[in-house]
Amino acid sequence: MHVAEIFLKDWRNIEEMNFRPDASTNIFLGQNAQGKTNILEAINFASLLKSRAGKETELIRFGESTALARIKFFKAGISHELAIEISHARRRRILLDANPIRPRELIGKLNSVFFSPEDLFMFKGSPSIRRKFLDAQISQASPIYFMNLLRYNRLVEQRNILLKKIRDKAARETELELWDEQLAFYAEKILSKRLASVDKLNSLANCMHQKISARKETLSIVYNMRGLDSQENLAEKFWELLRARRFKDIQNGATSFGAHLDDLKFFINGRELKLFGSQGQLRTAVLSLKLSELQFLKSETGEYPLLLLDDVMSELDAERRELLLEFLSREKIQTLITATDRAYFPPQTSGKFFFIGAGRLTE
Ligand code: ATP
Ligand code: MG
Repeated sequence: MHVAEIFLKDWRNIEEMNFRPDASTNIFLGQNAQGKTNILEAINFASLLKSRAGKETELIRFGESTALARIKFFKAGISHELAIEISHARRRRILLDANPIRPRELIGKLNSVFFSPEDLFMFKGSPSIRRKFLDAQISQASPIYFMNLLRYNRLVEQRNILLKKIRDKAARETELELWDEQLAFYAEKILSKRLASVDKLNSLANCMHQKISARKETLSIVYNMRGLDSQENLAEKFWELLRARRFKDIQNGATSFGAHLDDLKFFINGRELKLFGSQGQLRTAVLSLKLSELQFLKSETGEYPLLLLDDVMSELDAERRELLLEFLSREKIQTLITATDRAYFPPQTSGKFFFIGAGRLTE
């Protein structure tokens, strides 16, 4: 997969921008607050509808009414055009090859992996950050997984509403039967896919981590299933557990275990990273994880996704920077990297350089 052309209009501080990235490494240089992150954010938004913005309309340039991102890309050798328009006045519009599509249909189309210094919170932040990381990754490879996840999450919400009603004597306990059966059915789908994916990710990430740490460290990832200890008969066990915890769940008005509460644990040389990792180890681990995400998507979809590296060069020492750039060019991974300084890149770095100033781009 690769991106051939990007057009942005009234996107953050970018009035209008049009460029054709190279199929390999692209480096965006510029001082602080010039619009480097805004470019990557636009592409990531077109990929996953995710951004730094609290409200989507924050993406529209101050004083304007609509923001537009249009991206031409090749997937499995076929050319596509994705257009996303955000407006103060209207609902967001997404067009793929000139046909309107729904947000849920977007996932898995323009695949990308985004890596910024904020990803260091991956380890120390709340479990939902780690679940989102895992879900975004699996969903890009498997739109069916994404659909099942949406169904599962809706079922949990609906079950929780019912639990509260039962607690308040506004509904009968027997009404739970139907929900529990459905929930167990989808839980099994989600959990078995997550377990298989973490298995794969675990060996990819460990391999990568050993390389980056010059074989000094191992990295392992464990999926932490609340309440369930084996992978056999997941649907049945899930259902049994729902029954066993029913009384407690009614009292709390919430479903006390399941895919919506599970977590990932990371270990370096057998010790939990969150508790014992040094800054450098956290950085290396997150880099290993992101690179293994690339490999995961390649092995699941047959193509590398687009890699967006926001300001991560300053976080790595010179040796790791070189290892990273070498790996990306050897594997021919299309990458967009932002940095404030040319000096982060060795003189022999191959790739296309762009310069950003006040939302404008020069090559
Ligand atoms: P840094 O090196 O500090 O990370 P950057 O080049 O990545 O800088 P961006 O995060 O892309 O900078 O932001 C560039 C500018 O965009 C900021 O000055 C910000 O105020 C401006 N900006 C953000 N949202 C909007 C908006 N909706 N309209 C206009 N300008 C905006
Ligand atoms: Mg930035």
